[in-house]
Amino acid sequence: MKIVETIQEVRNQVKEWRKQGISVGLVPTMGYLHEGHKSLIDRAVAENDKVVVSVFVNPMQFGPKEDLASYPRDLERDAAICGEAGTALVFHPQPEEMYHKGFSSFVDMDTLTGGLCGKTRPIHFRGVCTVVSKLFHIVMPDKAYFGQKDAQQLAVIRHMVDDLDFGIEIVGCPIIREEDGLAKSSRNTYLNKEEREAALVLNQSLTEGKALMDAGETDAGKIRQAIVEKLESEPLAKIDYVEVVDWNTLEPVENAEGPVLVAIAAYIGKTRLIDNFIWE
Ligand code: AMP
Repeated sequence: MKIVETIQEVRNQVKEWRKQGISVGLVPTMGYLHEGHKSLIDRAVAENDKVVVSVFVNPMQFGPKEDLASYPRDLERDAAICGEAGTALVFHPQPEEMYHKGFSSFVDMDTLTGGLCGKTRPIHFRGVCTVVSKLFHIVMPDKAYFGQKDAQQLAVIRHMVDDLDFGIEIVGCPIIREEDGLAKSSRNTYLNKEEREAALVLNQSLTEGKALMDAGETDAGKIRQAIVEKLESEPLAKIDYVEVVDWNTLEPVENAEGPVLVAIAAYIGKTRLIDNFIWE
């Protein structure tokens, strides 16, 4: 496995592969890899001849008061995980490599990005769309892998690829959880012991919402309320949002009948965590 820092090195390698008619899968990450990321890499390795994993904490998708500086980083460990999983190339650019002096072109989306995480993180998806577009242009993969953990991101990327004719297949992968149900996240490392325990309320509240839906409840207001009440029962949790939205448009629904995304974000102490499920 190679680890490279420059766009040119990625291009050279991919060009070689292309000459040999080799298929390429891309897994974009911000590093500090866990089993959630690994599930994406495993799937990519199974479905492509060669897999590129990008490890880049993208400054453009962080707001001024967010955790860019403290975001956990450990390239050595990431490289070991990638290597073991059968990755061919790790792309680990510095911010200056991705955003040269005078950089001023962005990929923005009018729909899908205003609600859910976009409300509290107004510049987030512009940063995500811009960096993912750049990675798509650099690697030119056949397929790219994204987790349903970031469901809004998955929907936004699918929409962007469709709008801008990237010709890349976007593969959505299920949420990987800790044994006790907490969705795996690089940000879980911010939680102290007490907060880690309290964080379980995210998945528990969604489980209650899903149980209502399993029992036939379609009133989105009632489903939302049950989730809100459970989250509010945990003193360390502060709700950012609880939403029941159409899985295609991400617009709030009154009746949860079609494919819907039930998504939540909550602060546990200072750490903002997200979780969701999709109801088909
Ligand atoms: P990140 O490094 O947080 O930007 O995540 C990189 C990719 O891994 C994104 O497509 C995420 O949705 C995905 N991912 C992160 N956590 C999980 C998880 N627990 N299960 C599945 N995919 C995940």
